[in-house]
Amino acid sequence: MTADQIKDNFDKIRLDIANAEKASGRKSGSVILCAVSKFHPAQSVLAAMDAGHFLFGENRVQEAFSKFTEINKMRPGKAQLHIIGSLQLNKVKKSVEIASCIQSVDREDLLKEIEKHASKLNKIMDVFLEIHTGEDSKSGYKDESELMSSLQNLSSGLYPHIRATGLMTMAPFCDDEKIVRKSFSSLRELREKVNKSFPNLPIKELSMGMSGDYKIAIEEGSTMVRIGTALFGEREYNKPNDGN
Ligand SMILES: *Cc1c(COP(=O)(O)O)cnc(C)c1O
Repeated sequence: MTADQIKDNFDKIRLDIANAEKASGRKSGSVILCAVSKFHPAQSVLAAMDAGHFLFGENRVQEAFSKFTEINKMRPGKAQLHIIGSLQLNKVKKSVEIASCIQSVDREDLLKEIEKHASKLNKIMDVFLEIHTGEDSKSGYKDESELMSSLQNLSSGLYPHIRATGLMTMAPFCDDEKIVRKSFSSLRELREKVNKSFPNLPIKELSMGMSGDYKIAIEEGSTMVRIGTALFGEREYNKPNDGN
């Protein structure tokens, strides 16, 4: 995809987001766009930056690390990166080095590992807790009691280098709008519950909505949509997988 096409896509998606905010009575600018650049080259990210966009999401740590190391050399301090893909413990160190937020925290072990590396780097990491809200999705906290115990630990100050600022979910991939909507509304309801039970945690972001379902997500209260295909085009999955 050319830089001009990418710029046009950003213009179009920004407008769509603004319209969806308006249509659902949301404040203008209340939805953040996280541009998912996985499987796309550094040039695509640079084209997005030229179009005035600076927040990106990647789901494979190895790929993200090399791509954004290169980008940060060319444009120091400009891009902001969120890790959005399910994470193995041995990828946490690099994630903490390269990203400002890990959106895909779905177990206590990850929090411990993030704290360890963030503390070494003397860095505060933002995290979103990923929640399992749909039948066929594999990732996310599935067990409510495990989630509550992580929240309890975060709330009691066990992880001083971690700031839990949001919840994230992926809706099931299906054509039934009711099912997708239910997944998003359940995340919103969970945030209300968490805010009540843990008022000292700054959990306010709802990261939900992708290319195919972001308008529904915005209607259901999303504060951050993660959009890849609609901005950068179809991904080519034929590159060798270098692991997560
Ligand atoms: C790839 C990915 C996206 C973006 O998906 P598109 O359908 O290309 O917009 C969003 N969130 C997560 C977690 C992803 O892995």
